[in-house]
Amino acid sequence: ALHLEKVTKMDFYVEEDHIQDYLFKIVLVGDSAVGKSNLLARFARDEFYSNSKSTIGVEFQTQKIVIDGKEIKAQIWDTAGQERFRAVTSAYYRGAVGALVVYDISRRRTFENVTRWLSELNTHCDMNVVTILVGNKTDLKDSREVSMEEGKSLAESEGLFFMETSALDASNVAAAFQTIVKEIYEILRRKVF
Ligand code: GDP
Ligand code: MG
Repeated sequence: ALHLEKVTKMDFYVEEDHIQDYLFKIVLVGDSAVGKSNLLARFARDEFYSNSKSTIGVEFQTQKIVIDGKEIKAQIWDTAGQERFRAVTSAYYRGAVGALVVYDISRRRTFENVTRWLSELNTHCDMNVVTILVGNKTDLKDSREVSMEEGKSLAESEGLFFMETSALDASNVAAAFQTIVKEIYEILRRKVF
């Protein structure tokens, strides 16, 4: 469950209507080139980049997501390429209440590294971050190296949500972000009432 003090410095907002005043910080993690920046580009701007230009410079994007008719603000952080040097700073994780741990279904190594990213999250976030495991690049059917069952079963054993996506053909991208935001919202609602 989510640690309430951490979620909000705004505990005095106890009315349901005010949940939409919260800003949910959500971080994208995972190996280099799995498609993190493109998932965000697809979700926030409906764009796709065939090179890794999308990684440069972007720190976070604030995106409005409608849950139960309410507009929730999600502040989605991208690593901006830090992960290439195995050095994602603790500032990146600070205050995060949600995470997308992304691997590339066509590169097994990126799936094997998921446990490393999960322990990063554990180390840097002193609460249970609502996390979804995301197997990206489902459009690359012919070069699949990780089955959907494997992804699902890892997610189950780690207590994570799970989804396979393609930033290229836009499949499940919005759903992945929405799943996270909806769950955070639900946890918050339960805490609040
Ligand atoms: P990041 O390093 O995790 O941010 O990955 P990028 O978003 O920069 O993507 C790395 C490379 O994978 C780029 O060449 C993208 O065009 C490509 N890519 C990202 N998502 C997909 C996808 O869903 N399908 C395919 N085929 N390629 C993708
Ligand atoms: Mg990137």
